[in-house]
Amino acid sequence: MTGPCFGLSEDQEAYQELARRFTADNIIPVARHHDETMEYPWEVIKKAHAAGLVNTHIPEEYGGPGLGLVEGALISEELAFGCSGIQTAIEANGLAEAPLLVAASHETKMKYLGRMTEEPLVAAYCVTEPGAGSDVASITTRAERKGDKYILNGTKMWITNGGHANWYFVLAKTDPSAKGAKSMTGFVVDGDAPGIIKGKKEKNMGQRCSDTRMITFEDVEVPLENVLGRPGDGFKTAMGAFDITRPLIAAAATGLAQRALTEAAKWAHERKTMGQQIIKHQAVAFMLADMAMAVEASRNLTWKAAWMKDAGKRNSYHASIAKCIASRSAVQNANDAVQIFGGMGFNSESPVEKLYRDAKIFELYEGTSQIQRLIISRFVEDMYKP
Ligand SMILES: Cc1cc2nc3c(=O)[nH]c(=O)nc-3n(C[C@H](O)[C@H](O)[C@H](O)COP(=O)(O)OP(=O)(O)OC[C@H]3O[C@@H](n4cnc5c(N)ncnc54)[C@H](O)[C@@H]3O)c2cc1C
Repeated sequence: MTGPCFGLSEDQEAYQELARRFTADNIIPVARHHDETMEYPWEVIKKAHAAGLVNTHIPEEYGGPGLGLVEGALISEELAFGCSGIQTAIEANGLAEAPLLVAASHETKMKYLGRMTEEPLVAAYCVTEPGAGSDVASITTRAERKGDKYILNGTKMWITNGGHANWYFVLAKTDPSAKGAKSMTGFVVDGDAPGIIKGKKEKNMGQRCSDTRMITFEDVEVPLENVLGRPGDGFKTAMGAFDITRPLIAAAATGLAQRALTEAAKWAHERKTMGQQIIKHQAVAFMLADMAMAVEASRNLTWKAAWMKDAGKRNSYHASIAKCIASRSAVQNANDAVQIFGGMGFNSESPVEKLYRDAKIFELYEGTSQIQRLIISRFVEDMYKP
């Protein structure tokens, strides 16, 4: 692959168009309903699965379309333009599947990724706990080896798709005496395994139809073959997954930032004060210019992080930059859109009030913006050694 090139291939344009049409026909019309009722968007997920817009990075060998991250980013941006809550419910599959792509055996991939492509199922990624989010090394979930199985005990928190998952990726301590990262192992756990207790669906500020729950594992038996990679590799696997998923979070944040710009610009053309459209007031026009800059910067950084992964290059630094900048763009653009709508922006009849609530989570999940800066700063320290 050579670069730089900002043009899309015919196939990429076709996926972008497919996702755009899907969003217009199937997401935008129901987004408000799902926000108001918090109803899980099963019907949309089923349609997206049928349209080939779910599980896009599962390789063809396991029944998936085997798309690259660039194509995934194009799709995520379009879906999130319609509703980032519905997009998160769809994309959480990608998060759960990523550790398997990083570390699972051929047989495990066949079994757990294969079934995702056959029918519309969802999976979940269980790393965070009530006492450990950013500080992953402090997790207390334990998996103890007993003969030919592990026994899993512990509680995970804020698990997206937690209530509906066919299987879970779970990070647990297997050797608490080992140093930090080496003490953890990753597992695939069947969703119907005895001993899994699902908490209530959390009532969140935004992305309200996405299903977020506490999941407790009480003496859950996990067969040895469900260990991902080697015991002790779990931290590396769980974090390696983010190189795949953070560009997609950045893409979704860009989609929300674009939606805020689109809605605000339309409103600014229509709304008049002091005898002219508010877009003619320089103070408003400059806010729109800032919003446009944020969208362009976020999209370009997202595409770069995605392209690097597709090109087989390490993209952790660029994935963190893209996620951090794009999530700020989403929050800032949603805020500016509410401002441009005036009082109407504060009301749930406007399209931007939901964007304002939905945007904030991008700066929190899959590593907060502080954690992205921590990662970036470590690279910078290394890159600029005197
Ligand atoms: C809606 C939603 C969905 C989620 N989905 C999932 C999921 O599917 N799977 C999953 O495993 N988790 C999920 N999470 C959890 C999410 O990834 C964590 O909430 C996030 O990583 C932050 O962890 P925390 O909430 O424990 O905050 P804390 O780690 O307690 O952080 C609190 C504050 O301190 C800052 N901070 C912490 N450490 C440092 C440091 N070293 N330097 C500077 N600042 C620091 C943080 O940036 C933050 O501002 C989800 C969360 C939400 C709200």
